[in-house]
Amino acid sequence: MYYDKNTQLFLDGKWLKANEATTDLYAQTLHYGNGVFEGIRAYKTEDGIRIFKAKEHYERLKYSAKMMHINLQYSVEELTALTYELLERNNLENAYIRPLIYLGANMSLQPTDEVHVMLCAWEWGKLLGNKPLNLMTSSYQRPNPKSTHIQAKIVGHYTNSILATTEAKQKGFDEALLLDMNGNIAEGPGANFFYEKDEVLYTCPLGNILSGITRQTVFELAKELGIEVVEKFFTPEDVYKADAAFFTGTAAEVAGIASLDGHEFRLKWEDSLGYDLARAYQYKVTQREYKNFELV
Ligand code: PMP
Repeated sequence: MYYDKNTQLFLDGKWLKANEATTDLYAQTLHYGNGVFEGIRAYKTEDGIRIFKAKEHYERLKYSAKMMHINLQYSVEELTALTYELLERNNLENAYIRPLIYLGANMSLQPTDEVHVMLCAWEWGKLLGNKPLNLMTSSYQRPNPKSTHIQAKIVGHYTNSILATTEAKQKGFDEALLLDMNGNIAEGPGANFFYEKDEVLYTCPLGNILSGITRQTVFELAKELGIEVVEKFFTPEDVYKADAAFFTGTAAEVAGIASLDGHEFRLKWEDSLGYDLARAYQYKVTQREYKNFELV
């Protein structure tokens, strides 16, 4: 699914065949999870292939590296140019791009100077499908921000996401929703969370979540469309009474949610503000004019 015999990836200044690239089994990232990464999308637009918010993603990658004491030498501009080359070399149009910064052999608990930069991408449509999701409140909390840098996209954080998603699927749900250490709703395993009540959108403030670039885009779109968004802490009980809800994330885009812990939301996805934002998001990423965009 991710690569075939022709796929090329970028590794430390070279273009290699994905099926010929190798790595060190003594790498610190593999043993201890000390690495950072991004998830970015490119879209086919009328002006050609465009990486959506490349600058924001690569600034976050640099921030993540800095927080983990990883010396990432590449600039945002260099990484962006390399990513366009990656898309071209692989003839990709609507693609998901995965930059990974990983470390070399080191079994100590200190960072190493051996920093590897890998960029790969593959053609990828919608991640979560079009059917609104049934969520469960996870028994796993998001990592405590006093135990890690929660706003950095660190490889090791995703063991928490994997546990939560696996638990949700084993219990017959589509996805998990995780609480923070205070019992408020934080985010999904790989997406931020919003709910709608009386035509206002609510999402939690920064502090216990990844600062999603799609979350920020939804703030911008909501402003343009005259939709009010309030940042506040809330619990699963608050969400049970919601009219509608959705996830935001680069992979998920704006994905509708049907229920939490079996409590179904009042509105059909197609009648919710999230649905309008999901459509506006598609216009935005493909650079289509949505001035005359009509709310449903
Ligand atoms: N939270 C988590 C834990 C994530 O992994 C992601 C995906 N990067 C998000 C939120 C959404 O972030 P973004 O909109 O920048 O993709």
